[in-house]
Amino acid sequence: MMREKVVKPLQVSSRGALYPPSTYDPACPVGSYWDTTLTDLSWRDPAPLQQEVSCDVAILGGGLTGLSAALHLARDHQIQAHVLEAGALGWGASGRNGGFCSVGASNLPYAWMVKRVGQAETVRYYQDQRQAVEGVLELAEVEGFSVDPQGQGCYVVAHRPRYWRELEADHLIYTQVAGYPAQLLTAEELREQGFNSQENYGALNIGVGFGLNPLKLTQGLAQSARQRGAQLYSCSPLVAWEKIGSWHHWQTPGGTVRARQVIVASNGYTPEALHSSLKGSLLPVLSNILVTRPLTEAEKEAQGWWDPTPLYDTRRLLFYYRLLPDGRLLFGGRGGTRDTPEERRHLQSYMNQQMRRLFPAWKAVEIEHFWNGLACLSRQMHPHIGRSGADPSLWVGLAYHGSGVATAVWAGKVLAQDLAGLQPQISALFRRPLRPFPWPQLRLQYLRLGYLWAQWTEG
Ligand SMILES: Cc1cc2nc3c(=O)[nH]c(=O)nc-3n(C[C@H](O)[C@H](O)[C@H](O)COP(=O)(O)OP(=O)(O)OC[C@H]3O[C@@H](n4cnc5c(N)ncnc54)[C@H](O)[C@@H]3O)c2cc1C
Repeated sequence: MMREKVVKPLQVSSRGALYPPSTYDPACPVGSYWDTTLTDLSWRDPAPLQQEVSCDVAILGGGLTGLSAALHLARDHQIQAHVLEAGALGWGASGRNGGFCSVGASNLPYAWMVKRVGQAETVRYYQDQRQAVEGVLELAEVEGFSVDPQGQGCYVVAHRPRYWRELEADHLIYTQVAGYPAQLLTAEELREQGFNSQENYGALNIGVGFGLNPLKLTQGLAQSARQRGAQLYSCSPLVAWEKIGSWHHWQTPGGTVRARQVIVASNGYTPEALHSSLKGSLLPVLSNILVTRPLTEAEKEAQGWWDPTPLYDTRRLLFYYRLLPDGRLLFGGRGGTRDTPEERRHLQSYMNQQMRRLFPAWKAVEIEHFWNGLACLSRQMHPHIGRSGADPSLWVGLAYHGSGVATAVWAGKVLAQDLAGLQPQISALFRRPLRPFPWPQLRLQYLRLGYLWAQWTEG
């Protein structure tokens, strides 16, 4: 039999990783607020893999992409997938994000998208994104779980007067190309709506989106997938990957999964040495979140901020914020390229300062949670969902550009249809293969330059 070695044995927090080992270590506590919103977390820790098993499909990563793929494979196509997760289910970005269920998984400007895939496929991209957002609520309803949805749409607020023009241009695209019920609001209208901050020069409500509890979404997917027959394993890091004939052999410390087809759903946590076709193509980026104690009605009134619809600003290095069901403020922002304890402390104090600058009435409000995690960018500035060019039995759902809550769940569904041979029609944008960054070892330097540029030009 042909014995083709795909990768040498690898460690999860492996060689060549862009961030320190602690960033990838599932034993390191995350400290996310979401962990405190569930009384029973036992669903996150199904037994690790302890044997040799064979199956049609194996999935790497127990986050939204992997769990959604497993659920859809089992429920819609009667294919029992086995999911390997290095930590607890949802340990990656899925269990610790901001819970913006929104569009925006491509960072490409509209005109560039048209240039790349044409007008029709660009329109289809916007339709796919809307379907992804709406699909989350439909799925939760059908499967009978709650995600604590909040708000109507998603606002983009101009953080300087000159960004109003950008919002006007985006408004035209969202209404006339995408067909979304997007609306422009002047600064005064936004204040009246219940969003009074120090950076308000008008806003665009994209008209599609809402806020949710991402850990409840992960839980819902995991429990539904399990009930339908998917096999989920926590604490089961893939440590070695071999291909023998048409079988992938995925080895963990406790066992091996043999599968004819595999899905890589590890997004920002993808080990650098995982597979040659992915090498140097992903750029994991840190995002940071703080959560205050619950604000009283009087405190919300004093700031003039009471609407729970999610909101982010027009910076490329953006801040995103929303009120949570128990009245806390969640305030997030991208930043950091080292993830050392010193950098985390610095970012915590910076975010704290920025939050208080935007919301002066809350300058004495205590912060109860601060954490970070890895989202994922690609060189082509949009996700890749589909078959890898290197091996027809290798599938990926990766690089959601910090907008993966809706898109990852949708990607899981699309991948399930792909593997079932249904050839789902999705925008060609998502099918374009990943390409390595030039001199991939310099990815973090590119990011630092990008951040400096953004801070300098956007204020
Ligand atoms: C702080 C933060 C805030 C965010 N806020 C938002 C938001 O508000 N809205 C939005 O749309 N998106 C947001 N995102 C992005 C979104 O969370 C992600 O795009 C999405 O969760 C990706 O899901 P995933 O399942 O593909 O990957 P992840 O959830 O990252 O899961 C990948 C999993 O793969 C596992 N893994 C890696 N290597 C191995 C291995 N060798 N063996 C076994 N398992 C392995 C990891 O342990 C991890 O659990 C945010 C991201 C972060 C970090």
